[in-house]
Amino acid sequence: MNPRVTQLRQTLARRPLLGDGATGTQLQQLGLAPGACGELWNATHPDHVRQVHQGYLDAGADLLTTNTFGGTSFVLAGHGAGARVRELNLAGARLARAVAGDRAWVLGDIGPFGGMLEPLGEASPDEVTAAFRQQTAALLEGGADVILVETMSDPAEAALAVRAAKASGAELVIATYSFQQSAAGYRTMMGTSVASALAAVLAAGADVVGANCGTELSLDDYVSLTAELVAAAAGRPVIVQPNAGSPRLVNGMICYDESAAEFAAAAPRLLAAGARLVGGCCGSTAAHIAAMAPCFPR
Ligand SMILES: [Zn+2]
Repeated sequence: MNPRVTQLRQTLARRPLLGDGATGTQLQQLGLAPGACGELWNATHPDHVRQVHQGYLDAGADLLTTNTFGGTSFVLAGHGAGARVRELNLAGARLARAVAGDRAWVLGDIGPFGGMLEPLGEASPDEVTAAFRQQTAALLEGGADVILVETMSDPAEAALAVRAAKASGAELVIATYSFQQSAAGYRTMMGTSVASALAAVLAAGADVVGANCGTELSLDDYVSLTAELVAAAAGRPVIVQPNAGSPRLVNGMICYDESAAEFAAAAPRLLAAGARLVGGCCGSTAAHIAAMAPCFPR
């Protein structure tokens, strides 16, 4: 048993937890080219990665997310780094762990493998499971307390990721999907409802479930989505990590419109709707997290 995970469960039972904000868009502010491999920066630009973590810790985040979203062999292979899974995930976890110390918990981040499972795609469940096993083992070895499976669209892939994390030894796994509005209500890109999406990861053993990085969702939408998530979460804690609006191109720069003040106003509404963990996704900054921090007294 990891005593930090026990402490995390006890703290979560007592008060809501504040997550951190975006990693990728923050590294882009520091010079990472859009579309470039951010995970390589765990090896080449560790000071910049530490700087992003430190900004969130200083803003009051209880949870720091590793810079390993695209750290599966599948995604890294697209950048010619498919053989560097262990190195880059280990480094990413160690960077976050070093900044977090005893002041925050480290979420070892894993995102989608970037393709489609059979029969829609060509990746077999065994291959994808092996990739998630390899990544999560390195994250836990590097000091991640929790595995965060995020931005999922396909419940089958999300379930594989949760099971792989547990098989690697994760004591606590968070699983979140990216939802969008449809005529039928909130759905993933694959057309999966909130109830079906959550049922898949709960059956796989997820301890905390929720949503991040929605497409075209306002903060008002996230409040109503939160209520739907809570209804489908079977009593498990719900996490919500909104992006700061939809990305817009302005003079060649990607911009996000929702301000820190708007996040501060949304935080009590998300908590009232039943969220127990709240952070930010793409476009959110340390200022967004600091603005929400008064709602999360330690
Ligand atoms: Zn995002």
